Amino acid sequence: MARVSFDQIQEELDMEFFLERESISFRETRGTSGIQLNIKTCPNPACRDERWRTYFGIENGKGNCFVCGVSFNKLQYVNFHFDHGDTWRTTFATCEEILRDQGYRPKRQAMVQVVHGDVVLPVSDPLPLPDGSNLAYLEQRGFGADICRYFELRWCQFGWWKFKDADGKAQTQNFADRVLIPVFDLDGTLKTFQGRDLTGTSPKKYLFPMELPGTGRYLLNGHNAVATDHVVMGEGAFDVAAIKLAFDEDSALRNIVAVGSFGKHLSYGAPDGDDQLGRFLQLKGRGVKTVTIMWDGEVAALLAALDAAKKLTGLGFTVRVALLPFEKDPNEVTGDVVRKAFYAATVWTPAVDIKWRLRNPYAAEAKAKTAA
Ligand SMILES: [Zn+2]
Repeated sequence: MARVSFDQIQEELDMEFFLERESISFRETRGTSGIQLNIKTCPNPACRDERWRTYFGIENGKGNCFVCGVSFNKLQYVNFHFDHGDTWRTTFATCEEILRDQGYRPKRQAMVQVVHGDVVLPVSDPLPLPDGSNLAYLEQRGFGADICRYFELRWCQFGWWKFKDADGKAQTQNFADRVLIPVFDLDGTLKTFQGRDLTGTSPKKYLFPMELPGTGRYLLNGHNAVATDHVVMGEGAFDVAAIKLAFDEDSALRNIVAVGSFGKHLSYGAPDGDDQLGRFLQLKGRGVKTVTIMWDGEVAALLAALDAAKKLTGLGFTVRVALLPFEKDPNEVTGDVVRKAFYAATVWTPAVDIKWRLRNPYAAEAKAKTAA
C-alpha cells in the first residue's frame, strides 16, 4: 500500500474498529453533533483518566478529554494511544496497518490514459473549473470534483459541434448549457460524447453529436474496468456516477467498476464484435468474471435486464440482477439504497428468469399505480 495521507486517515480510519482492535472500552452516544463515541480511557499518556470523560465525534473526526482538556484527531489519537511521542512516521505506519486490518481499499481513480484522437469536442471547460469551482447542478446531485475528474466531465457554456451533413456541407449543432460526457472505448480512445441539458427546459435531456457513431455500441467508463473481476452496469451516465459515488463510500465495494449501457438494452450481433456484447467479451479477457446489472426499478427494465443477463451468462459471466426501489434509478436514491440493492442482487439462472417473468417483482406496484 502506498503511504497513506493525513486526509485518508481522517476520512477512512474507522474509530470503532480501532477501539475494538485495541480492546478500548467505548459506547455510542448521540450528541448534538451526531454520533459520539464515549471512551473509557483518555488516550493522552499524561492523563489516561478512566472515568469515561473522553469523547470522539464520528462525523467531525475529532475528540477531547474533559479531564486533561486535550483534543485530538484520529492520527493524534493513535499517536497518544501508542505513546509514539514525536515519531509521527511510526504513527503513520501504524495507521496504515489499522487501515489494512479494517479492509481498507482506496477509492478508485481513473486508471487508463485517455486519448481524444480525431474527435474535437465543442468548446468547453473541464470540471471542476480551474479555480476549483463546480456546477451547482452537479454538486446538488452529489457529484463533486473527484467524480467530475473521474468521468472527465466538461461544462459547455456556448459550444457548437461541427460536422458535415450527407451532402458534405458543414453544419453545426448547439451544445450550449450542457454538461459534456465523453464516451471512451475500452482502450481509452474518445469515440463520441453526450450533452446533458443543464437548464431543465430543453426538450432533449441528452443531445448526441451528429455524424459520430452512436453510444449504443460502447460501455461508458468501460476503459476503467481494469484490475477488477466485477463490473456493475447502470444505464445513463449519471446513474453510473451515482453508483461509483455509492461504492466509494464502502471500501468492500471499491474494487468494483461501474459502467454504463446507455439504455435498457445490450447491443449484439455485429459481425466484427463492434457492439456492447463484443466489448463485454473483451472485458472477460481482462479478467472480469461477474456483472451486476442495476437498471431502473420498473417492470420493463427488469425484463430487459433478464434478456441482457441471459446473453452475458452465455458469454461465461456470473450475472447478478439488482432490484432498485420501484420507479427509481441509482441517481434518484441515496448511496445506502444503491449499496443495499447491490448486496441483495440475485444471480441470474433460467429458474429466476422464469420466476420473474411470471411474477415480476414490480408488477404489484405498477398495477397499484395504474389503478390510482
Ligand atoms: Zn485526558
